[in-house]
Amino acid sequence: MVLVIATENKHKGEELASILRQEMEIDVRTLADFPGVKLPPETGSTYRENAVQKALAAARATGHWAMGDDSGMEVEALGGAPGLYSARFAGEGVTYADNRKKVLDLLGDRPDDQRTARFLCTIALASPEGKVEVVEGRCEGRITRRDVGEGGFGYDPIFFLPAYNKTFAELSPEEKNRISHRGSAVRAAIPLLKKTAS
Ligand code: IMP
Repeated sequence: MVLVIATENKHKGEELASILRQEMEIDVRTLADFPGVKLPPETGSTYRENAVQKALAAARATGHWAMGDDSGMEVEALGGAPGLYSARFAGEGVTYADNRKKVLDLLGDRPDDQRTARFLCTIALASPEGKVEVVEGRCEGRITRRDVGEGGFGYDPIFFLPAYNKTFAELSPEEKNRISHRGSAVRAAIPLLKKTAS
């Protein structure tokens, strides 16, 4: 079965492809294999809408099943921000470091029990004919007081997992994929993909 990963974010694409290949025999393609295909801008008001829009656009344009994902980090003390706006929390065209700094600045010196946060990931699978299935994954953690660790991307250096005593950025890619929001969502999508492929 051919599956196109409908994301322009290299890090997310690599994580999705590596989890998929580990879980099943599948021919994973990326948008780099379809240079003419562009994804629509994120205009949805939910993760679900954005994930479905990306998956449908890629499936229709390539003629293959496609996987779209939308994800974000929600900090409880910030009323769920950055949430849907995780990629551009500190403004358009900012760096991951700018976004992390904004979260750390807003939280200031709050104690650990007021620094709880979660990552959410919604994955949509779409067929070229417009059939859609949606699954979700989440991962609970806590915001650190500074960047810790070199791996991963985005908010990984400030997302601490008490059970591992490490941030996402201190885990190996395999460890992160085993416990992350994206890993859980992809594993929830596997039975649907297997049913489609058979
Ligand atoms: P989108 O799903 O392309 O809208 O991007 C979501 C944004 O959330 C990314 O740009 C990152 O800032 C953040 N994000 C999503 N997943 C992760 C993750 O696994 N680690 C760190 N940051 C993430």
